[in-house]
Amino acid sequence: MIELSSPAIRATILVVDDNLSNIEVIYEMLTPTYEVLFATSGLEALELTVATHPDLILLDVMMPGLNGYEVCRHLKADIVTQHIPIIFITAVGQTDSEEKGLKLGAIDYIAKPFSPAVVKARIANHLELKRYRDLLADLAWVDGLTGVRNRRQFDDFIERELRTAVRADRPLSLIMLDIDYFKHYNDHYGHLMGDDCLKKVAQTLESSLCRSADMIFRYGGEEFACLLPETNAAGAMAVANRMLDVIQTLNIEHVNSAKKIVTLSIGVCTLIPQQRSKIENLIVPADKALYRAKELGRNRVEFADE
Ligand SMILES: [Mg+2]
Repeated sequence: MIELSSPAIRATILVVDDNLSNIEVIYEMLTPTYEVLFATSGLEALELTVATHPDLILLDVMMPGLNGYEVCRHLKADIVTQHIPIIFITAVGQTDSEEKGLKLGAIDYIAKPFSPAVVKARIANHLELKRYRDLLADLAWVDGLTGVRNRRQFDDFIERELRTAVRADRPLSLIMLDIDYFKHYNDHYGHLMGDDCLKKVAQTLESSLCRSADMIFRYGGEEFACLLPETNAAGAMAVANRMLDVIQTLNIEHVNSAKKIVTLSIGVCTLIPQQRSKIENLIVPADKALYRAKELGRNRVEFADE
């Protein structure tokens, strides 16, 4: 099941300023309450944001090299970082630059010299808002029947994970799973039992995963997908075979299937990403492998052969 963001976890704030004494002042102010990271240039800020995913960014506008506006534009254009709230901190008090920052997608604007109490209060408010937004997004993305992530979230995550994999030059694996003869199951046992079966399968698949980065999604009717970041072919096959086993071990009666219990057909694909890799390079082969698993008699795992 999805873990909803908890206020008990200390939020991480990235402070970006080319002036070290400014950073020191803000660091002193925030470090009792938050994890504070800092960067002294726009480039460093972009790298650190991708690497650490801070909950909020305090961003100086005037910096040599990439200035605050440019950093903001980069972060807002990237699907991985666009949801991180940005507050501009600057000495430039003119309304036109304030407007410029807000138009670029910054959530707030604080002018120097600032009152520490006001800055702290605004940060707390924005973090609270972010928490609610994350919570709503989580709720909207849960599949109502099975409690695992839904298709919409799959579309979102596979895009994000592919981008991350390309950037980090790491493999990304996808497992597609389909319940064998599920239409027959529904016809024989009725739709309520069918729903129960889907729930059990989804939750068993989810609890069979060992790493928090791995994710199960309901892909369609009786079809599930599993994304495994930083996982090579051997690792993905091991997970797929474990899934095949755990579902058999559930021992759910299914008189109209070959084994007389509920089983899965599974297709696996691992992508060594290149700059031009698209999600189709992962989904299409995994889907073909799943189709082959069906053709070859079901209740088995097939690896994509291209
Ligand atoms: Mg500056």
